[in-house]
Amino acid sequence: MTTPETMKNILILPGDYIGPEVMAEAVKVLEVFKAEGEPIAWSFGHLGGAAYEAEGHPYPPSTQQAARAADAILMGAVGGPKYDGLPRAVRPEQGILGIRKDLGLFANLRPALAYEALAAASPLKPELIAGLDVLIVRELTGDIYFGQPRGRRKTADGHDEGYDTMHYSVPEIERIAHVAFQAARKRRRRLCSVDKENVLETSRLWREVMIRVGRDYPDVELTHLYVDNAAMQLIKNPRQFDVIVTGNLFGDILSDEASQLAGSIGMLPSASLDANNKGLYEPIHGSAPDIAGQNKANPLAMILSVGMMFKYSFGRTDLADRIDAAVRKVLQDGKRTGDIAQPGEPVIGTQEMGAAVVDAL
Ligand code: ATP
Ligand code: MG
Repeated sequence: MTTPETMKNILILPGDYIGPEVMAEAVKVLEVFKAEGEPIAWSFGHLGGAAYEAEGHPYPPSTQQAARAADAILMGAVGGPKYDGLPRAVRPEQGILGIRKDLGLFANLRPALAYEALAAASPLKPELIAGLDVLIVRELTGDIYFGQPRGRRKTADGHDEGYDTMHYSVPEIERIAHVAFQAARKRRRRLCSVDKENVLETSRLWREVMIRVGRDYPDVELTHLYVDNAAMQLIKNPRQFDVIVTGNLFGDILSDEASQLAGSIGMLPSASLDANNKGLYEPIHGSAPDIAGQNKANPLAMILSVGMMFKYSFGRTDLADRIDAAVRKVLQDGKRTGDIAQPGEPVIGTQEMGAAVVDAL
């Protein structure tokens, strides 16, 4: 028997183009666990272009209410050419920015994992990525993206100039530090903080705070790298890393770099967390309008996002591990959607891939 308090409520926001297609396969995975008696329930809402069409706003009040009440949120990608002509305030991307801000999601977690069965898709040699498992923790709310003042002005000698301001406060650094140290504790207990401390004042503060917070986690080994060196090390010897924590700008760049080590954009999940591990889980890929409606999209990133949800929001590493193992099994069995197939390999569709994962589970 499960009491209402232990029931986990999941809000599902399928999104646009391939979003609903990959989400349908993720729901099949939820159905497997529910049938096993796991205390999960879910409901559907609108976000992005679909929300604008249904309710006139990319993050409508009904979704706001449901998102605030939910224990976790699964999201498909939003946006696409259908919505390009909309006024800026109601573009699909405003839905994502809106929900992130509304829920106070400040930590973005992106694993970069190498799947042996897909080694041929990686730009790196198989021996460099065998067993690769890196987690990048990126701060999402501060840094140069939102810093004021910013704008355009004239220089003293009359040239036009653009300027931005990078800043981080101690509380902002502390909270992302705790997320990163806690994530490292669930893994191999090594955390590498990435900054540019030799040049930037924000980075000097970042490093000081990381070291101070690190005293609360004596079981986690803390190291530091300059961002330029980190970018190089990710290619040269990516397996040296367990968890990487960094600011918004450096994290944006490094997480895209790391995503390619694993091969396909269709394989990578992500989590965005608040201070209580309430999270929004989504694939890193976009809405892929070019393949929408053709049963071609790879649903594995969306399915792996469900695994991250169980691990980070519900503390169910066991279910996350089962999803990871099922994904590895279908890849080992040679199941391939178009994005991860090598020339000549037979290709299956979105729904067939979802069904294969359910079988493997
Ligand atoms: P966004 O701006 O929303 O990030 P994008 O323009 O960067 O979008 P995506 O929508 O991620 O791009 O698509 C980039 C390419 O990757 C496209 O060719 C698309 O078909 C492919 N792609 C993205 N996701 C998947 C997926 N799940 N399965 C297969 N191919 C995918
Ligand atoms: Mg993109």
